[in-house]
Amino acid sequence: MNLILMGLPGAGKGTQAEQIIKKYDIPHISTGDMFRTAIKEGTPLGKKAKEYMDAGELVPDEVTIGIVRERLSKDDCLNGFLLDGFPRTTAQAEALEQILAELGRSIDHVLNILVDPDELMARLTGRRICRDCGATYHMIFNPTKVDGECDKCSGELYQRDDDNEQTVGTRLKVNIDQQQPLLDFYSEKGTLRNIKGNQHIDMVFKEIENVISSSIFTVN
Ligand SMILES: [Zn+2]
Repeated sequence: MNLILMGLPGAGKGTQAEQIIKKYDIPHISTGDMFRTAIKEGTPLGKKAKEYMDAGELVPDEVTIGIVRERLSKDDCLNGFLLDGFPRTTAQAEALEQILAELGRSIDHVLNILVDPDELMARLTGRRICRDCGATYHMIFNPTKVDGECDKCSGELYQRDDDNEQTVGTRLKVNIDQQQPLLDFYSEKGTLRNIKGNQHIDMVFKEIENVISSSIFTVN
């Protein structure tokens, strides 16, 4: 099963990725992990990537794509893989098609976990921290018993600057703008599967399983 996982920050990709790789016994391939491995193993591409990163520069597409090619050619990907954080651009998506064609494979599903922006905003701005003891809470996922007051020490709660609406709003907007061309790309390819992300995490996973299992019977 060759999968790509997409979704905006706060959509719950990490949780779903964990369950997917466990159930389908495929490796979770994130861009960060790929770079770290290539650099650790000292491959020529890893060395090149490190030069750019050490210089504080963006790693160019041809290096990134080369690293993806190396990674997808490894034996643990024979069963399939879950790509996360790659591709980021349509140029990378086209390169990925090319790599997979060379390997005689293709993407089965692009799983896009959809959560509407208002809900994402609530999730991403909900963190609160105690001024006195540093305990962390979340307005939705882990609320305090008394609003605005730490359960442990009754200290006052505050919101970090990174979590405010303006910062989070900008981050979401950047991600939405970046994802749209990719969603269009995979929609045209017929591999885009929108998964309802604003439900219990077990239900989100159930929907993913349904998408994957229905294809096992219809494809081939
Ligand atoms: Zn406290």
